[in-house]
Amino acid sequence: MHEYRYLIIGGGMTAGAAVHGIRQIDPSGGIGIISDDSYPPYNRPPLSKALWKGEPLEKIWGGMDMGDCEIHLSRTVKSIDSKSKRVVDDGGEVYAYGKLLLATGVRVRRLPWDVDGIMYFRTLDDYQQLRLQTGRGQAFVIIGGGFIGSEIAAALAMNRKSVAMIFPEDGIGARMYPPALVRFLNTFYQSKGVDIYPRTGIAGIEKRESQFVVKTTTGKELKVDGVVAGIGVQPNQELAGSAGLSVGNGVLVDEFLRTTDQDIYAAGDVANFYNPALGERLRVEHEDNAIAMGNTAGRNMVGGSTAYHHLPFFYSDLFELGFEAVGQLDSRLEMVQDWKVEFREGVVYYVNEGRVRGVLLWNTWGQVEAARALIAEKGPFTAQNLKQRLPA
Ligand code: NAP
Repeated sequence: MHEYRYLIIGGGMTAGAAVHGIRQIDPSGGIGIISDDSYPPYNRPPLSKALWKGEPLEKIWGGMDMGDCEIHLSRTVKSIDSKSKRVVDDGGEVYAYGKLLLATGVRVRRLPWDVDGIMYFRTLDDYQQLRLQTGRGQAFVIIGGGFIGSEIAAALAMNRKSVAMIFPEDGIGARMYPPALVRFLNTFYQSKGVDIYPRTGIAGIEKRESQFVVKTTTGKELKVDGVVAGIGVQPNQELAGSAGLSVGNGVLVDEFLRTTDQDIYAAGDVANFYNPALGERLRVEHEDNAIAMGNTAGRNMVGGSTAYHHLPFFYSDLFELGFEAVGQLDSRLEMVQDWKVEFREGVVYYVNEGRVRGVLLWNTWGQVEAARALIAEKGPFTAQNLKQRLPA
C-alpha cells in the first residue's frame, strides 16, 4: 500500500499547481499523484495555440517541476473510502491519504459514431497524434465552433491545411460574442481559407480506407484525412458522488475548497465554487482557474485557510486576433460594445440588471484587473457610463 500525507487524483495543471501550493508551506510531507494521463502534469494551452506557431514542445513543461512527489501514471482511481481514508485504482493498488485533492477535471463529449481515429482534442497524446495526421494528410474537418474548434481550425489553417468547420450555431463563438462579431469572425476565418458550415449538424461519419467521409445534415459529404471534434466537456464527478460527497454541476466546495468531507478538497475544472463578485456558484474550465485554485487547495490541504475568491480570466488566439476575458461571456446578456477599431480592437461589456457580469478584452491587453474590479462594483451601469470605462 502507498501512503501519502497529500494525495491528488488527477494529473493536470490543477494537480501541478497544488503540488507547488503544498510545497510553499510543507517542504517534506509525502505527495502522491494518480493520473490517467501518460505524462506528468504539463501546460495544456500551448497544445492548441503556441505549438502550432513554431514554439518548441518543451514549452509545455515550463513551471511544471513536480519536485519529489510520486506520480502514478496511466492509472484510474475506481473508489474512495472516506472513512478509512483510502483510494483504490484500476490495478487494485491501494493508497492511504491524510488529505485528498480531487483534480479529476472533465472528459470530452463524444459523437454517436464510434469511428476509429476521430480526435477529441485534449491531451498531449492527442496533440502528437494530430501532428502525425497533419504530416500525412491535407484536408481536415473540425466539428464544433467553441474554444477547441476555433483554435484548432486556426492552428491547422496557419499550417497550410485545408480546413472545414461544422457547427450548430450561427457562427464561431456564437455563445459568447455579439452577433456582429460572430459574423465578422465567420468572414475572417473564410478570408484565411477556412470553409465555414454554420447551422449544420453531423448526419454520419464513416471511414473509407484511410479517409473519413463526414456527412452533414444539409446533405454535404466531405472527404478528409482527419476529423477533430471539440463539442464540449462534462465534469468527472462520479467518483466524488459515489464517495458520498455533494455534487451538482461538478463537485461542490466551500470557500476553502473543501468538499463535504473535511479531508477531501476539489479544484480545477471539476470544482463548483462560489464567487463573491458574481454572487453565484461557478465551474470554470480554463488555465488561470486551474492554477490559482490548485495552488490555494494545496496550501489549504497543509492547514492554510485562504478563501478562494479569485475571479479567473481566460484567453484565446484566433489567427492574429486574440483576447483576454473575465466573468460571464454569455451572448444572451445585454452586450455593450466599445470598439476602437471595429472587431479588431475593443471591449465588450456583458450586463445584467445594471451589473457588469463579464468583460471581453478583444485585442486589448493589461486590463484584466480593472475588469475584475468592474465586475465587483455595484453599478448601476448603462451603455453610456460603460463606454471608455476600460479603454482599448
Ligand atoms: P466549447 O467551447 O463548449 O464548444 C463546444 C462547441 O461544440 C460548441 O460550438 C457547441 O455548439 C458544439 N457542439 C456541441 N454538441 C455538438 C454536436 N453534437 N455536434 C456538433 N457540434 C456540437 O467546448 P470545446 O471547444 O470542446 O472545449 C472543451 C473545453 O476546453 C472547454 O471547457 C473549454 O473552456 C476548454 N478550452 C479552453 C481553451 C481556452 O481557455 N483558450 C482552449 C481550448 C479548450 P452549441 O453551443 O450549440 O452546443
